[in-house]
Amino acid sequence: MTLPHVPGGAQPITEQLAAVIEQMPDPSGGPVAGQLERDLAETFGVPHAVAVASGTAALHTALSACGIGPGNEVLVPALTVVMTVAPLVALGATPVFVDSDPATLDLDYDDAARKVTSRTRAIIPVHLWGRMGDPAALAAFASEHGLAVVEDAAQAAGTARDGQRAGTVGTVGCFSMKDGKILWSGEGGFLLTARRDVAEHATAFRSHWQPAPPGEAPLSRLATNSRLAAPLAAIALANLRRFRGLVELRRAQTRHLLHALEQAPGLVALAPAAREEWNGFAALLHIGLPNPRAFAEHLAQQGVPNSTGSFRLVPCDTRPMFTDRGRPCRGAAQILDHMLAVILTERDTETTLDRYAAVTATEATAWAR
Ligand SMILES: *Cc1c(COP(=O)(O)O)cnc(C)c1O
Repeated sequence: MTLPHVPGGAQPITEQLAAVIEQMPDPSGGPVAGQLERDLAETFGVPHAVAVASGTAALHTALSACGIGPGNEVLVPALTVVMTVAPLVALGATPVFVDSDPATLDLDYDDAARKVTSRTRAIIPVHLWGRMGDPAALAAFASEHGLAVVEDAAQAAGTARDGQRAGTVGTVGCFSMKDGKILWSGEGGFLLTARRDVAEHATAFRSHWQPAPPGEAPLSRLATNSRLAAPLAAIALANLRRFRGLVELRRAQTRHLLHALEQAPGLVALAPAAREEWNGFAALLHIGLPNPRAFAEHLAQQGVPNSTGSFRLVPCDTRPMFTDRGRPCRGAAQILDHMLAVILTERDTETTLDRYAAVTATEATAWAR
């Protein structure tokens, strides 16, 4: 199995960057972020894209645009990173952690329904590892309870299910362009929405309410500076032009690694859902060995980077700042305790992937004894 070559790369990125640097310093920020927004909207097939400084800033901006603030509760899966939760807490809202279904990795909607109160305003589905839940179930739940949907699609650029692209299902979709995500620019993020009012609020919020939405005065509300710097927008724009190839590469890397691990004892690849076009963000395997989390940590020490072993990913409701919030989400814990999610980047060659596979297979064989 050979990995596809992605056209472009260092040279067009350098050229795009050089052209922007020629124009700097430019207090207006120049035209490149606007160009990026137009191209993002076209690529994802949505009316509006707003570029911001990070995925965290995209979530913060999106939640603000959905009117989330003090006194509101927001449903969020325990199966996520703290970056999903910090923005809603920063806005004064309260996170209510929802469990996930170990069979599908999707939200446990029965648990979600039990946790809706009169203060619930929004739900943040998180497409962790690029895996997307059922868009119809999400839409039905949100409409039944009258909730805004802010998708955390930071890892899901390029995934679709039932023909709907991740990040275009909800009220707003939030993406990160931090290195390691498929569409990268070092740091950066953006949000997608079909709603003009949400896009106008987001455009104001990311830049101290300037430009203000129609009918409002500039600087008339307190907001933040979450603008995307022009050099990073230039890198993003060059990478967006090879986005399709980057997604194909990630899929091929994941296929390659999973194929090489087919015979490894105690490790079973997780298949995407029916009608899910998964972006292959990370190679996902169920660890059926004793002490599975310790095995993932051991692999990380042996040079195979993975979500639980390298980054100590734990259910968010068990983090120290959230532990007073009632019954723990057991499905999320079960998923994470048994997950080997091998982290990939564009730079990982067949040689690297073959080394990951060889180390993983050898260590799994030894561990099983
Ligand atoms: C990366 C990531 C974020 C945060 O994005 P930053 O650009 O690092 O702020 C949020 N949620 C998920 C699921 C992520 O993977």
